[in-house]
Amino acid sequence: MGWVGSFPQFLVFDGPPHRCAPHRVQGSRPPVGRPAHGGCDTAPMVLTTGAPSVDLAQSLPEIAPYARTTVRLHPRRGEPGVRDSHIGGPLWWPGAEPWPSCDEHKDINGRPLGPYPLVAVAQLTAADFPEIAFPAGTDLAQVLWCPDWHDQPHPEGWGQACRVFWRRAADVGEVLTEQPDPAEHWEYDSDMVPRPCVLRPERVVEYPWPEELPDGLRERLDEDAYDDVSLIPGCKLGGGMGWATTDMPFSLTCGGCGGPLALFMQFDTYEFTYGGREPDRFWPLEERHLEPGTPAFNAAREPTGMTVGRGSHAGLFLCTKDPTHPPSFFTQ
Ligand SMILES: [Zn+2]
Ligand SMILES: [Zn+2]
Repeated sequence: MGWVGSFPQFLVFDGPPHRCAPHRVQGSRPPVGRPAHGGCDTAPMVLTTGAPSVDLAQSLPEIAPYARTTVRLHPRRGEPGVRDSHIGGPLWWPGAEPWPSCDEHKDINGRPLGPYPLVAVAQLTAADFPEIAFPAGTDLAQVLWCPDWHDQPHPEGWGQACRVFWRRAADVGEVLTEQPDPAEHWEYDSDMVPRPCVLRPERVVEYPWPEELPDGLRERLDEDAYDDVSLIPGCKLGGGMGWATTDMPFSLTCGGCGGPLALFMQFDTYEFTYGGREPDRFWPLEERHLEPGTPAFNAAREPTGMTVGRGSHAGLFLCTKDPTHPPSFFTQ
């Protein structure tokens, strides 16, 4: 495992950005108790971000060292299999291992409520995401959280109580067939419970939040043009996050060991914006025929159905020294 780049990054890239074969995400064995995809993964197989309006590396060459690659996950509603990479689907979870739960809830009289099973948020395999710095001996990452807000390891963190499980898929054995139904305790659309989505990963270059850049460089940014190349919106893996609501914390350090934190996953209410004079760069080329306001358009733009914060985004940050340390969550 290693870390590269001028900033602590959770993802390790060993070459130029490349497109992964999207079929790998779908190419796993059928999900437990269901047909492979039920014919309802209707999103295009490949989703592509538009070209940036400026070539920043040309117009401001000094910024080149700060370029970094993020993986747009492009979640789209579907029926991911239990062994697939996905958001909101069934997990490749050992049948013999208890499902984690949250027991920190109380009613208004202080009597304990729950425990409530954690919600399956995301599953990522090394085959689909080789850039993840998996801890030695693991090739499967699983993100679960309690949809309520809880204290965070980082004092400025704000949002869901997350757990990340690292496994070796070959060790899972018999898969847990009866997995908790989030709808028993939570509501899709009003709580932080993602709808099941397949992924269409796309590697895109982005530039950091301006506060992360040295003063001399930050002052030379053309703000309008910079918006177009920095901080890719939507659900993504690695890269950076915007801090327009709270400002960036003075230090982003692990609550466990004090090591640097780095963005592991961003969750976003919207995958792209629309309505400007030009089509938004982040509205995938393959979906630009969709009519705004229609159900198909809304499903493409708000695939997980989650309203993050007040309609913004949030980041799940991991310790770069040891990603098994407690994750911190920051909501904007
Ligand atoms: Zn909870
Ligand atoms: Zn740590």
